[in-house]
Amino acid sequence: MNTLFHSFPILASLLFLTPEEKAQDPKPNIILIFADDMAYGDLGAYGAKGWKTPNLDQLAADGSRFTQFYVPHAVCTASRAALLTGTYANRLELYGALDHSAKHGLNPEETTIAEMLKANGYQTGMVGKWHLGHHAEFLPTRQGFDSYFGLPYSNDMWPNHPESKNYYPPLPLIEGEKTIAYLEDQQELTSWYTYKSLEFIEKNQDQPFFLYLAHNMPHVPLYVSDKFKGKSEQGLYGDVMMEIDWSVGEIRKKLEALGLDENTLIIFTSDNGPWLSYGGHAGLTAGLREGKGTSWEGGIRVPAIFTWPGKIPAGKVRDQAAMTIDILPTLAKVTGSTLPTLPIDGSDIWPIIQGEKVQPKPYYPYYNKNELQAVIYGKWKLVLAHTYRTIPTDTEMRNDGIPVKYTNVKLDSAALFDLTKDPGETTDVSAQNPQIVAQMNGFADLARADLGDALTGKEGSNNRKAGRIE
Ligand code: MG
Repeated sequence: MNTLFHSFPILASLLFLTPEEKAQDPKPNIILIFADDMAYGDLGAYGAKGWKTPNLDQLAADGSRFTQFYVPHAVCTASRAALLTGTYANRLELYGALDHSAKHGLNPEETTIAEMLKANGYQTGMVGKWHLGHHAEFLPTRQGFDSYFGLPYSNDMWPNHPESKNYYPPLPLIEGEKTIAYLEDQQELTSWYTYKSLEFIEKNQDQPFFLYLAHNMPHVPLYVSDKFKGKSEQGLYGDVMMEIDWSVGEIRKKLEALGLDENTLIIFTSDNGPWLSYGGHAGLTAGLREGKGTSWEGGIRVPAIFTWPGKIPAGKVRDQAAMTIDILPTLAKVTGSTLPTLPIDGSDIWPIIQGEKVQPKPYYPYYNKNELQAVIYGKWKLVLAHTYRTIPTDTEMRNDGIPVKYTNVKLDSAALFDLTKDPGETTDVSAQNPQIVAQMNGFADLARADLGDALTGKEGSNNRKAGRIE
């Protein structure tokens, strides 16, 4: 294909439209579906065997899926801040997972994908888990979304938490900025989110829209509606996966029925890897090391599918490294929107989605809170000396929604991995590759100077502030 059109997809689409189509707004609809704690190996297209995900597999077959796609932080709030702003969350002073006691959230000065697209004439809606500040000042409606329906934070932050009984207040369900109910159980959550999404699509069918659907599932506590109970024959986790898969199918059916499927870009990914201490209530790492809360591949590598019929090649697998921070600038390009005023960290990955071989981005840093724990450059990953959580190998895992205990272990010195040959991070190849190690350490130094690093006592020079209430 002509490279001109790669650089100017909007121009290309204008040239090929019929006169009637030209009269309409050519901007594509964007649907961004974000699962919670869904693991790299949880989709059929990524090797899941215990349950079926036919709609997600079809989405992958109709588009391009990534095999080395990352979140920069393997935990909810930080991961979501990065996704929606295209910026590392530690730069924005957001870490971990905020709960009901937080007095801060995503700074209203930051530009979200919703604000960027709204400024370009999009109708914007969010359904699902927010987790960037639960006070009114920080809710989705103050961050560029015209409408909101969902939970302000994680679904386990409620009085039934298995380890923190009575610490959390009742779990609010919010519409707009108003609490409309407190959840006693969560069986209908995935169905409600689906129906709200369909309603939003239907309502906005005549104008370009952006829908951000952030499922609470398959984050614990796991719940499914009656229509999926026992469906996977593999336990509750499989049932939950099947209901999320159903939800994707319903959305695609609606787009088709309204004639919108050709003009809609769907992106599906997850906020971090599986919460392994929950045993049978956690997802499948597909051989990746560790899980959520760590900077090992099991924590940060997630499934990622980009589907847009006629615009994104169907049935392709992209093996180049990319990250959720790259979604905002990529959407800016395909919609012709203006990038945020404040500097962002992501870059446009449209060429990678299109299958062009591009130079790897000079380093993706991986931070857990303020600790720089790893750096990735293409196929190379330098894991820096740090302490991480793991489950002792002799632990008997459970399957009832009650977690086992992690222990902390120390990685005493940095280790280099070739992720192409060794995605499971089993073999340190630093001794054989001293030049790569030196280059990667150079990247780590750049990250420290820019963003800081608690492990080496470095202050970052380009960090910004979270938003705070009195
Ligand atoms: Mg999560």
